[in-house]
Amino acid sequence: MNFTQITDVRQINRLRILNLIAKSEKTSRASIARELGFNKVSTGEIVDILIKEGLVEELGAQITQSGRPSIGLSLNKEKYFVIAIDIGLRNIRFALMNLSGELLRFERFPTPITPTVEEAMALMIRHINAYKGRLAKEQVLKGIGISIGADVESSTGTIIEHRDWKWKNIPLSYAIEKYTNIPVVVENNVVAMIKGEKWFNEKADKERIFFINWGEHISGAFVAPGRKISPEALFGHLIVTEKNKCSCGGIGCLETVASGKALAAHATKSKSVKSLVEEANDEPHLQRLLYESVAYMAKALINTAAIVRPTTIIIGGGISLLPEPYFNHLIQVFNTHCPPIVNNNITITRSVLKERGGIIGTGVVALDEFIFRRSTIEQLAIQ
Ligand SMILES: [Zn+2]
Repeated sequence: MNFTQITDVRQINRLRILNLIAKSEKTSRASIARELGFNKVSTGEIVDILIKEGLVEELGAQITQSGRPSIGLSLNKEKYFVIAIDIGLRNIRFALMNLSGELLRFERFPTPITPTVEEAMALMIRHINAYKGRLAKEQVLKGIGISIGADVESSTGTIIEHRDWKWKNIPLSYAIEKYTNIPVVVENNVVAMIKGEKWFNEKADKERIFFINWGEHISGAFVAPGRKISPEALFGHLIVTEKNKCSCGGIGCLETVASGKALAAHATKSKSVKSLVEEANDEPHLQRLLYESVAYMAKALINTAAIVRPTTIIIGGGISLLPEPYFNHLIQVFNTHCPPIVNNNITITRSVLKERGGIIGTGVVALDEFIFRRSTIEQLAIQ
């Protein structure tokens, strides 16, 4: 179902009320009616339906400021759940998420090297069935969100192309639904991370954001209020140097000097960025390499800022957690070299979801698709 199909006013009102209750810790029928400008009778009717569905619960009577009794309402977190699956190049993460976006179970498994579609699917189906088996009888699994660093057609749940694994035109939703009988939504991983960020970071919801997923690869996408997130930008392939052949066939892409893959190759103990950061404490040349990498990232961000004019740049993904001195250097290089005409007080921050951004964002995609439809009502509000 996409938003053009939600034409029933009552259905839209139901979603607006549900989302208002979800966003507030505690509210009441009267304050919902006031805040949304609905009449009290129909608000009450819709709230009763939400209670019956098990999405909302009553908290008992309380006395309002005006001295009248009122019954508190809040989201019922314990009935409906979604499964999030974040398929990364190094790890596949699984989580069970409740309606508040809390991770109730979280597991991580190494991704098989260049997995076949069948291998990845078998792994997912096995874990989905295990999660399903652990739920109590009254707990309901509403859907599954899957995110992957690939070109994805989310309306049909198809992976159009995964470059690293040479997957093409994989009807992932269809296949997983067939074996699990649970609805599935598939999304590009950066889009999922942005959706997670917007869900949990109220500020991000109101700004012009350029979001970076700085991990094994580097990708980025722009989003502004009411705008669809389009992940087509190839941020990792901005040219920042004259040497280094990139896996894309180009020379000198940002990927070749700042991606997790490129950085990990310099570590000697274990081929990871974490190990590189530790080794850099005693090895000035590795420390220099890390400072150079963040400077390349800063310059790529300056070029991007000149074109998309963000108010905030949010950096997510594993490498966004580089120690403070490196992150501060990135901001310093950005502020020093960004032309004043471009840098209109652009803020650079790390994702509020830290290293969990991928998996939380994936769960949010499922919550949004199967329960809250928040992105849909936002688009309706703007049209
Ligand atoms: Zn490239």
